[in-house]
Parts: sequence; C-alpha cells; structure tokens
Amino acid sequence: MMSDKILVIGEIRDGAIRNVTFEAIAAAKKIKEDAEIIGVLCGSEKVEELAQELVHYGVHKVVVIENDKMKAYTSEAFVPAIEEVVRAEEVGSVVMGHTAIGKDLTPKLASRLDAGLISDVVEIDHIGGNVVFTRPIYSGKAFERKIVTEGLLLATVRPNNLKALEKDTSRQGAVIKLEVELPDLRTIIKDVIRKSTEGIDLSEAKVVVAGGRGVKSKDGFAPLYQLAQLLGGAVGASRGACDADYCDYSLQIGQTGKVVTPDLYIACGISGAIQHLAGMSNSKVIVAINKDPEANIFNIADYGIVGDLFEVLPLLIEEVKQLKVEA
Ligand SMILES: Cc1cc2nc3c(=O)[nH]c(=O)nc-3n(C[C@H](O)[C@H](O)[C@H](O)COP(=O)(O)OP(=O)(O)OC[C@H]3O[C@@H](n4cnc5c(N)ncnc54)[C@H](O)[C@@H]3O)c2cc1C
Repeated sequence: MMSDKILVIGEIRDGAIRNVTFEAIAAAKKIKEDAEIIGVLCGSEKVEELAQELVHYGVHKVVVIENDKMKAYTSEAFVPAIEEVVRAEEVGSVVMGHTAIGKDLTPKLASRLDAGLISDVVEIDHIGGNVVFTRPIYSGKAFERKIVTEGLLLATVRPNNLKALEKDTSRQGAVIKLEVELPDLRTIIKDVIRKSTEGIDLSEAKVVVAGGRGVKSKDGFAPLYQLAQLLGGAVGASRGACDADYCDYSLQIGQTGKVVTPDLYIACGISGAIQHLAGMSNSKVIVAINKDPEANIFNIADYGIVGDLFEVLPLLIEEVKQLKVEA
C-alpha cells in the first residue's frame, strides 16, 4: 500500500448519507486501525451540512465537493472529481459501498488510477501480516480470499455485512471544500424516479419479507407489506413474482436482481431456485414459508414453516402485533 491514508467515498441519497457509507468507514478501520480516514462527499448542494456525520462515524477529515454538475450521479462528473482527491491526498486505499453507484464508479476509478479493485467484500481479516478480503463467488456458493500485494487498493463492501462504528458526536474532524473543474457532461440526469416502494431501502433493510410466485397476485402481497412494516423491513420478490407482474422488478432479489444480507429474511411462496439464492443466501436468519415440504428453499432455511402462506402470514402478523403490545 502506498500510504496509510484511506479514502471513503460517501453516498448521499434523498439528502441523507447512506448507511453503507458508515459500514465502509468501519471497513477502512478494519484495513488499518490507526489509518487516517478521509471521507469524500459529492453533490450539488447542502453537502457540507452532512459532512460532520461522517466524522461522527469515524472519519478524520471530510472533503466536500459541491458542483452544479453533481445534482445526480454520473461517472463523467464523479470519477474525475474523486480521482483528484485520491491524487491530492495520496491515499493508499479507497473504500466504498457495493451499491449500484459503487459498482459503476469504482471500476472506472480503478482503471484511471491503474489500480486493482476487490469488489463485494463481506469480510476483512488480518492473516500473516496481510489484509485479507473475503468475497462471494459463483453466486454465493463459495468464497474467495484476496490480498493486495502492491499499489493502490480499491474495495467495495457489500451492504449489511460489516458493522458500522457507534456514532459518537464528540468525534472531531476537519471539513474542507474542494473546487474541481469538471468537463462538460455528455449525460445530463434531469430527474431520478425511484420505482421501489417508499420506506426502507431493500438492499440495506435489516428485515426482508420476500414473495414468490406462490403469492399468486399483486393483492397477495398485502400481508407481506403488512408484516414488513410491522418489523421495520422492506418487501422483496423472486423473479417469478416479478415476471408474473405481481410486483415491480426493482424488488427482484437474486443473481439478476438485488443482493441482500438482512438479519432476517422471510421467504414466502418462493421455491428457492439457485438464481434466487444467489441474492439472499447470506442472510443471517432465513425463514421459509412454503406449502411444498420438498421445496429447495428449506435446504438453506434456518426455520421452515410448511403451510399455506395465506394462513401462516396472518398468524405471524397477529403474533408480532401482540409482542409489540407487550413490549
Ligand atoms: C439467467 C437467469 C437468471 C435468473 N435470475 C433470477 C433472480 O435474480 N432472482 C430470482 O428469484 N430468480 C431468478 N431466475 C429465475 C429462477 O430460476 C426461478 O424461476 C425463480 O426464482 C422462481 O420464482 P419462484 O420461487 O417465485 O417461483 P416457483 O419456482 O414457481 O415457486 C413458487 C413456490 O411457491 C410455493 N407456493 C405456491 N403456493 C403457495 C402458498 N399458497 N403458500 C406457500 N407456498 C406456496 C410452491 O410450493 C413453490 O415452491 C433466473 C433464471 C435465469 C435462467
């Protein structure tokens, strides 16, 4: 590694810093406990007021870049701006969330910096004097461990895998504004329309209630939404349910959808095809509700309920409501 400084690229969504950014700060600490951690936040306005939050989660200094061309993410604007920070600060490592933006930005940045990239990291350890990064391969069926032996290191961390540091408002850090010259953009984003449901972001949710073809209709998703809301979670779906038009593709979990790692995943009427498992098999606790006792989903479930989801879900909902009243 070139230097002990580590840059964490922050992500802002709907005027707030995404949780995975705080996890990326924790990842930076795991790479080197005593490293100087520098955060970078880009946007068109009100970025500076968010900077202190990065400090509260463990960053020592925040570089704020405000530019009219950064209203929405485009690699054309964000990559050269962040490249400037990497070069000016002479950092040895760069860490970011493995999000849609992280997946687009980091390979381009790595290429411009002639650096390596370890993507989708789920664990960071120190073994034999090396920093070892673990990442899933073959759709989550196996894990590989990687080390970087020389040069600049870039890594993206999968949301919900590394625990963010406790927020501490007494942490102090400098916030500096950086003016950057950006090229004329060939792509201008006028508006970002989110199709996903309101509330908690699926890829960062601690609880996911997912429905498959067994849910049978759009209306069949109502009890799933109810349970998700009670548990403070988000609703997801199999591709089977999306293909059948029971829900939007933005909810799809799996190999060609989102990858989630919640604390609790409740699969309702999902058979457990390998392509679905690729997106959720690393969830901490998996509960499956399926009327077919032979369904593959039971092979990876921690708790299995063999039954009709339309009978089981109302019982679960009542049970959770009861527990909430008692609590
Ligand atoms: C290249 C490729 C990429 C793919 N990517 C993805 C992906 O990203 N994500 C994904 O999910 N799939 C993906 N698939 C599709 C995948 O192979 C499966 O077809 C899909 O996951 C099946 O969805 P399902 O489990 O909802 O439906 P099904 O396999 O039809 O299963 C429905 C289940 O519901 C149960 N059921 C029915 N009624 C009830 C009831 N009343 N109560 C309880 N249980 C009930 C049934 O017993 C059954 O197990 C991909 C496929 C390919 C080829």
